[in-house]
Amino acid sequence: PNATKTNLVPKTAGASRPSSRATSPNNIKRVSDFSFGEIIGEGSYSTVLSATEISTKREYAIKVLDKRHIIKEKKVKYVNIEKEALYLISKHPGFIRLFYTFQDAQNLYFVFSLARNGELLDYINKLGRFNEACVQYYGALLLDSIDFMHTQGVIHRDLKPENILLDDNMRTKIIDFGSAKIQKVTGKTESLPDDFPVNNNHSRSFVGTARYVSPEVLNDKNASTASDVWAFGCILFQMLTGKPPFVAGNEYLVFQKILHLSYEIPVDVSDTASDLMKKILILHPSERLTTEEIRNHPFFSAVRFDKSLWEIAPPRLK
Ligand code: ATP
Repeated sequence: PNATKTNLVPKTAGASRPSSRATSPNNIKRVSDFSFGEIIGEGSYSTVLSATEISTKREYAIKVLDKRHIIKEKKVKYVNIEKEALYLISKHPGFIRLFYTFQDAQNLYFVFSLARNGELLDYINKLGRFNEACVQYYGALLLDSIDFMHTQGVIHRDLKPENILLDDNMRTKIIDFGSAKIQKVTGKTESLPDDFPVNNNHSRSFVGTARYVSPEVLNDKNASTASDVWAFGCILFQMLTGKPPFVAGNEYLVFQKILHLSYEIPVDVSDTASDLMKKILILHPSERLTTEEIRNHPFFSAVRFDKSLWEIAPPRLK
């Protein structure tokens, strides 16, 4: 999130427009139902604020999208996809929960559960890197979430440590489905062929963030579940070493490194972890490990991929 946007909503509590002052007659929420706190994040098309629902005192994160801006930038379709994707993955604990949506004349409002512990990126940067036990745990939570998302036909297309938040219990919540693609669930969503006809033509355009974008997307191919797996490999690498695998002075040089698979695994990374990354960071998407194969890789041999994964106490981050 790096954007510049202003004047979306009043920054202070309840300073809503007159039209929104009356109490809602049904369960549709409105601005006046919440007391807004501080800005906790800004994206290209949105501002995210903490907010408390006045009647219940429950805390939320409210994403506010400026309608005029969305229409001008032709992002209406993406906003709808974000909402649909969030609905499709709402049964899994690895994603931020969308509680309500509403709008007024100026803005759209998405009311989410509040992830109080912020972005995974900050923890990686603060600690320098995670030890392998922590990477195994956090990698497993992410893998389980990505796997579920793919079975629901959702491809995220912008997985990165800034889009992975930590809740009160230090468990991961994936956010930001503003670049997602929804495909028909065919029973087998893994490793679709590169030229698989998908439902929309914008899927060929570059979406995502330079450092985590897959080679096939750079080569103008459709993003598939394997593109999320690539990003997962980059995140795993970053947790293990402190830096994503493909870093350079500018975007063009990052892309060159990705296309030439130019990365180096530090010598102090274990053989098992190195082996896994080498099998994920593979140029051709169909040769990359699938989520199922990653689950069965020795790096995750100690992990039980079932409900208990989300119930065990997280290891202390170090
Ligand atoms: P981008 O430009 O990356 O697409 P965006 O407009 O889609 O951003 P988000 O990525 O959804 O916006 O949110 C922006 C930031 O707000 C996040 O990086 C995060 O720091 C913060 N944020 C979003 N949702 C929550 C939440 N539920 N709880 C806590 N913080 C949040």
